[in-house]
Amino acid sequence: GIRVRFAPSPTGNLHVGGARTALFNWLFARSQGGKLILRVEDTDVERSTKESEQAVLRDLEWMGIEWDEGPDKGGDFGPYRQSERKTIYKEYVDKLVAADKAYPCFCTDEELAAQRAEQEAKSLPPKYAGKWATASKDEVEEELKRGTPHTYRFRVPQDGKVVIQDMIRGEVAWANDTLGDFIILRSNGLPVYNFCVAIDDATMHVSHVIRAEEHLPNTLRQVLVYDALGFQQPKFGHVSLILAPDRSKLSKRHGATSVGEFAAQGFLPVAMVNYLSLLGWNDGTEDEIFSVQDLVQKFSIDRVTKSAAIFDKTKLLWINGQHIRLLPAETVNSMLGQQWVSSGILKRPDGPFVDMAAELIKDSLEVIADADGALNRLLNYPLRETIASGEVNDLLEDNLAEVASAIVKEFDDGKLTEAVKGGHDGWQAWIKGIGKAMKRKGKRLFMPARVLLTGTNKGPDVGTTLELLAKGVEEDIIGEKAD
Ligand code: GLU
Repeated sequence: GIRVRFAPSPTGNLHVGGARTALFNWLFARSQGGKLILRVEDTDVERSTKESEQAVLRDLEWMGIEWDEGPDKGGDFGPYRQSERKTIYKEYVDKLVAADKAYPCFCTDEELAAQRAEQEAKSLPPKYAGKWATASKDEVEEELKRGTPHTYRFRVPQDGKVVIQDMIRGEVAWANDTLGDFIILRSNGLPVYNFCVAIDDATMHVSHVIRAEEHLPNTLRQVLVYDALGFQQPKFGHVSLILAPDRSKLSKRHGATSVGEFAAQGFLPVAMVNYLSLLGWNDGTEDEIFSVQDLVQKFSIDRVTKSAAIFDKTKLLWINGQHIRLLPAETVNSMLGQQWVSSGILKRPDGPFVDMAAELIKDSLEVIADADGALNRLLNYPLRETIASGEVNDLLEDNLAEVASAIVKEFDDGKLTEAVKGGHDGWQAWIKGIGKAMKRKGKRLFMPARVLLTGTNKGPDVGTTLELLAKGVEEDIIGEKAD
């Protein structure tokens, strides 16, 4: 059966690159009726932490990615943390040694440094050329008896090559002799990363290794270990890099890069999953908005592209907005209500005011958190700063000042506040009264009034805004943090 794995190193947060690798593995497994294994690669004891492991698991869960076997779930091929598999690695080191495919190396650090310096002086690539590759049994026995510190090295066949048919990149080949005999077990007893990965993938019966392009060079060592132990090679698929819009490596200076940060910024998990799926994959059409079910149905590794993907936050925001619009009204209204309560703009998360405000606002949102600013703009009237800034002049036609001063005067006299209490009707009567006195009506009256009162010529009209405010006053729902 199909078995894939996601193998995070718990040395930090789950970044978009790792999240995409996890997603592609999960979609591959789900679309083919296979299993996803979660394996924690914590061989780097200095940098690995339990907190980071928990954070990675939490972020995967947030995205809706489920694994069938893992450190928290168990399974038939555990343990699922590399730090707990030392006896397994040792067992395979012993097997290789017994078959003379690995050997103990007693070279000191000084000897190895001298060898490197010599090779460098001759412009040769660094490659183990130490005597222990060809030492006699007796020599080895003697050092072992003496307790001389030693590593174990894998004997690399110096002829032939490793060729893989990468599911994404096509044929990739390496000549074996580019590699010297490499260490698989350190003198302190800790196995080396590439050895662990090969043993784990083989003993966990991983059928397809889908991972980031940066691991492509590791494949040579891993395949050699597979072959030496007589394991059947998995199929490999190396997914391209994710770059920033300026095509440099995506990093902190480009803003949020971890899934946890996007979750905290209020992105919907489905939008995150949708966006990540498009980083190097398409369904062959122009379609870009997919539900999770759509993705499980449509995903195919054949459509994963070789070229680098660009991480574009603007696009992620747009996709999130599209998914907000796809949610049922009740769901959005309740999300917005909770958002407004948590930011202190409202005292209660539901009721007619929330429903009306949500209706007015939701089509303009990219993330739920935008709703704070949007509601405050509706609650914030009249915008006298707008008048002072002169910005409105661009938005208005003629004689702004005349309407403005009439409205500001009414505001100062408390008449607008009175009118608000009358809701839509109160507002209509009030603005028409002003219009009559000024001999203005229609657009020449309503447009300036709207800009002055709401700060924009877009969005809901003034009557609707005032109706909302009246509801807010009636329900006593507007909180202290409202502007
Ligand atoms: N632990 C590696 C990483 O986090 C993954 C290695 C692999 O997938 O083979 O990048």
